[in-house]
Amino acid sequence: MSQENFDALFTPITALDVTIKNRFIMGSMHTGLEDKSKHFDELATYFSIRAKGGVGLIVTGGFSPNITGWGAPFAGTLQFKWQIKHHKKLTQAVKPYNCKMVLQILHTGRYGYHPFIKSADASKAPINIFKAKKLSTKQVKKQIKAFVNCANLAKQAGYNGVEIMGSEGYFINQFLSPRTNHRDDEYGGCLQNRMRLAVEIVSKIREEHPKNFLIIYRLSMVELVEDGLNFEEIKQIAQAIEKAGASIINTGIGWHEARIPTIVTSVPKAAFAGFTQQIKQFINIPICASNRINTAQAALSIIEAQQADMVSMARPFLADPEIVNKIKENKTQTINHCIACNQACLDHVFAKKRASCLVNPLACYETKYDLSKVQNPKHIAIVGGGPSGMAAAYYAAIKGHKVALYEQQNKLGGQFLLAQRIPGKEDYQLTIDYYKTMLEKMEVDIHLNSNIAVVELNKFDQVLNATGIKPRSLGQEFEADNVFSYEQVLISKDIEQIIPRHSKVAVIGAGGIGFDVCEFLLSESNDLTKQTDLKQVNPIQIQVYLTHWGIDQSNKNRGQLMQNPPVIEPIRDITLLQRKDEKLGKNLGKTTGWVHRLNLKRHGVKQIAGVSYQKIDSQGLHIIKDEKPEIIEADYFVICAGQVSQNTIDDSIQKIGGVRNANQLDAKLVIREALEWAIKL
Ligand code: NAP
Ligand code: SF4
Repeated sequence: MSQENFDALFTPITALDVTIKNRFIMGSMHTGLEDKSKHFDELATYFSIRAKGGVGLIVTGGFSPNITGWGAPFAGTLQFKWQIKHHKKLTQAVKPYNCKMVLQILHTGRYGYHPFIKSADASKAPINIFKAKKLSTKQVKKQIKAFVNCANLAKQAGYNGVEIMGSEGYFINQFLSPRTNHRDDEYGGCLQNRMRLAVEIVSKIREEHPKNFLIIYRLSMVELVEDGLNFEEIKQIAQAIEKAGASIINTGIGWHEARIPTIVTSVPKAAFAGFTQQIKQFINIPICASNRINTAQAALSIIEAQQADMVSMARPFLADPEIVNKIKENKTQTINHCIACNQACLDHVFAKKRASCLVNPLACYETKYDLSKVQNPKHIAIVGGGPSGMAAAYYAAIKGHKVALYEQQNKLGGQFLLAQRIPGKEDYQLTIDYYKTMLEKMEVDIHLNSNIAVVELNKFDQVLNATGIKPRSLGQEFEADNVFSYEQVLISKDIEQIIPRHSKVAVIGAGGIGFDVCEFLLSESNDLTKQTDLKQVNPIQIQVYLTHWGIDQSNKNRGQLMQNPPVIEPIRDITLLQRKDEKLGKNLGKTTGWVHRLNLKRHGVKQIAGVSYQKIDSQGLHIIKDEKPEIIEADYFVICAGQVSQNTIDDSIQKIGGVRNANQLDAKLVIREALEWAIKL
């Protein structure tokens, strides 16, 4: 493979009087370790590993400047002098690596999940149960003082500066936008007044700190909500923020209450860099792009096309703390890429659990697991090359064991081979590629097309069964030429050959896979031949995405929303069914489920809950609903009714993943299970 040249990403950049060694920012992420000082040692290790991994600048998770700004009760704050000693642990941890570190000051305003929230107006965010009280003019000035106090304490704690969170619909954004600011004092009304809070925060911090103290301002480049800012206003805010003394402008995309996906897997790489580029031409300080920048190639394309001066990656640093050094050393094949699933990071944070990473269970648990090499390596066989088998082989090999991996199919990947066929989930292939590269590097003996017999397994010191699952069949009553398992559908080279477009389809089972299969059947682009290099930015994909979600690029509309978003003509007529009598998709991921539900709704998928299935015959699918028999007429039926274990070897051998418990099939769980198995070896 030819060497790529990533030098442009490693040219130092100067922001006022601070020089940053490369173009990478590790964006702010809440991990759950910020909220209690007892976790600061672990947090320090987490940051130091990422600083050692080569990143130029780290932004901490959000810290509130006072109680009013709390995201939740007892959320991390930096308000008092006694808190400095805890923060010093973090700043000291990154010092040896020539990495800058700034504290993010996050005031959540009406997004705070507690009864004391305050905002520009008395209002309730559609994603909150608490209503905010309106701040008086005097109280607004008090909030500004809190920001300045927080920045002063950050300086004393050893931070190189602060990031002011001015986007995503948080407190400052609530003042900027006519959507949430209907005040009639000096902080409301015309744009000059609405941006007074943001400008005063930046200028008052700058008054107290010379230019070698970084002030990064996170600006909402696209609001994606009704009555949000328009392009001209965003441009003027950027200019005013620069004038007030900011060092760098970072990009924020969409409000949290926006109903347009901005970070999930189906958002194309670098989809929003064009919006950052539009603002770049109107300011003179460095500007940073963000959202769905998860590959070296995407980062490079943004810098080379001068869409931005820097790139902010957040979740990719959970997936691979060494991503920057790997890019620098041109070892991009060895990067463990973030697949934007949100399953172990954001979904955990919303469930008040510690964040981690589906593809890297060590993330935020750096001090828990010891993967150092063992003194007496074993000879280990792992049967099954899906996510659990690949991960088990990987961690066992890291510990120095001699590993052989046996897979029945002609390629590694297991269920991820199916997942990567879902439109918008193509990045799952990057995880398979990562394991393949690393297992080869670590000289794991990989046997494909293998039906290993028990007798051959006897020669190993230890054997692990990771043979996985197969789709649940519903029995003879549900067998016919027009009935398919989800596996048959997803492995089809050309879906048109088995379920032609414009046909009527009933999908039985509305778990994650039922929803995924619907998206697959509704997509125009499930032809394998259309796949491009997954690591590159795909401008056509970006255009399709922006249009699909009604994002206006004319710079005319408030919130960058199209006035007449396109009406979707579904390419198949789908009915999705489940037995449980509850909303379909209720148990999908907190931060991703709404996207799937909304997308299916927009494609006119009919959803029926609370049914029992009787049989499929030439009339259709016979169900009982509300104690009455009904027939769902369809040309084709796809069964997505979960899985059963698939054991191909001696039942007494230790099992892991789906073969151990098919009901708990979940890549996040099985990869962590593989790690914990390897730790005990
Ligand atoms: P699932 O979420 O457990 O859903 C299985 C579906 O089959 C459910 O709708 C279930 O609900 C139905 N079902 C179960 N037994 C049945 C039976 N005997 N007859 C008829 N229906 C039956 O499993 P999945 O959709 O197959 O997904 C497997 C795993 O993959 C999930 O646990 C998830 O972790 C992972 N996954 C995640 C995502 C994601 O977006 N995060 C996407 C895909 C897969 P009813 O009984 O109510 O019908
Ligand atoms: Fe990325 Fe998923 Fe890991 Fe979160 S859990 S960092 S989205 S791969």
